[in-house]
Amino acid sequence: MSDWRGIPREEIPWFPAIDTEKCTGCRECIDICKNGVLAFDESSRKSLVAQPYNCVVECRTCARLCPAEAISFPDAVEFTDFIKKKLHNKEN
Ligand code: SF4
Ligand code: SF4
Repeated sequence: MSDWRGIPREEIPWFPAIDTEKCTGCRECIDICKNGVLAFDESSRKSLVAQPYNCVVECRTCARLCPAEAISFPDAVEFTDFIKKKLHNKEN
């Protein structure tokens, strides 16, 4: 398991969420992500999150490029707060 700033990656809830109501299945997010986080679901004809912990922490590239605004990430302020607490607990 990989670490991010000394925290096991799988303890960090940073990965995209796909709103399947909005997703048109255009595959742009799948093509843009080089980490294999996203994949095409043949049954629904939409994107799905296949490898969440391969997502680069604090990257939002796919969300910025999604034409349907179907991709979201955790709230930035809440996420920063979460990480600060994690780092504090690690150091104490
Ligand atoms: S870029 Fe957006 S609309 Fe296109 S497949 Fe990905 S989530 Fe769906
Ligand atoms: S945020 Fe970046 S690393 Fe994560 S799934 Fe999107 S493009 Fe890939």
